[in-house]
Amino acid sequence: MAENTRETIGVRLTGWAALNRDPLMDRVEFTCPQCGVKGDKAARRPRAAYHFTDGFVQDIEGESTTCRGCKAALKVVPVVMVHDNDEKRRFQAVFSLDPIAAN
Ligand SMILES: [Zn+2]
Repeated sequence: MAENTRETIGVRLTGWAALNRDPLMDRVEFTCPQCGVKGDKAARRPRAAYHFTDGFVQDIEGESTTCRGCKAALKVVPVVMVHDNDEKRRFQAVFSLDPIAAN
């Protein structure tokens, strides 16, 4: 069963990291691994679904969406909750080395 779904890591900004935005705009941001277009979607999963794993609060079940650039089916997993800029930098340092990101 070849299902053409690609995985990408999502970021959900909260707290200080989201200070500049409308608090009602609770979005999961991601980059399409196929075409590189950045996208975002409304965060569907409750915060209770997020758990502290590997130094970050993550939803390891993820969310499904479609790339608005190439229309690829995307599985955004994990979704990492980021609270401030330090955490954001740490996230970028950790996840750019993650083999999932290269798939
Ligand atoms: Zn795409």
